Amino acid sequence: MNTEQLERLYKDVEQGKVPFLAQEDEFKWSGCIMCGRCCFDIDILLNPYDILRLRRHLGCTTSDLIDRGLVEIFPGGNSGLPLAMIAFRKVDEETSLCPFLAPVVDGHKLWELTKGKAKPSPEDLEAARIPKRLACGIYPARPAVCRSSPLGRLTIKSKEGEDARNLFYQPPTRFCPACQGEGRMKVAKWIEENAVQPYWDASERFQSLFSTLFENGLVLKEDGDRAVAILWNLAAGILYDFDGLDLVTKEFPQNRIREDGEEDLRLLTQLFQMVEAVAASVSGIREMARCDVG
Ligand code: SF4
Ligand code: SF4
Repeated sequence: MNTEQLERLYKDVEQGKVPFLAQEDEFKWSGCIMCGRCCFDIDILLNPYDILRLRRHLGCTTSDLIDRGLVEIFPGGNSGLPLAMIAFRKVDEETSLCPFLAPVVDGHKLWELTKGKAKPSPEDLEAARIPKRLACGIYPARPAVCRSSPLGRLTIKSKEGEDARNLFYQPPTRFCPACQGEGRMKVAKWIEENAVQPYWDASERFQSLFSTLFENGLVLKEDGDRAVAILWNLAAGILYDFDGLDLVTKEFPQNRIREDGEEDLRLLTQLFQMVEAVAASVSGIREMARCDVG
């Protein structure tokens, strides 16, 4: 969803135009036909768990993801908090596409073409393409936003300050063929089949960490002080790009292709604890900087 779509959604929610869904409810879904239309012109924010899963799936570091132009880390325009996003590639002035979107290849055809060869050539891959079929090249490690779609989640704070998380139905694009037909899907089944829950859980923990950063003033502002900027960079590095941290890499060796989500959740806990410690040190460091100046 891009910023414009998000603003429209908030407005629709305020006006009560977005019905919230319960686990037993059904939504329109006739099955994805891999047209790839939902992987254009959107913003996909990543939380640290998305990145852990992605780097584990691809067997690379976050620095690799950044250097290859697949992911970008930046301070949020409004919040000043460290955000990560898939770096969509501009095709022209109006169109950008996800760098993970890949043509679907006919496995049997590819096998026929590569019989006796150690590895398929780019020409073999091109020849085995299925016309007009595009799919996610990181499907087993697709991020929470893509995994959940066409379900979205909205956090609404009650007067007592409690968070209520509401599910709603939002076709990934107006043209999504899977959302046009007569098929139906149960919310609970969708969540189970797409293994969404651990991603949502991690995302909740991330939101709570963000509140801690915000409350401690660990936000990057143009006119902010230098001590905070240094701590901000440290926190962003721990969250997203921690391969240089001996403490972590000894217990959780990186660059391994594994699908062990449990291990990544444990790693996430350690990273969050470190970032909380950095956030807790902000006021002390500010004080010290003030004394130095004085
Ligand atoms: S637009 Fe709909 S049918 Fe096409 S790839 Fe996305 S989810 Fe699948
Ligand atoms: S990560 Fe996969 S599903 Fe998500 S936008 Fe990119 S190609 Fe599409």
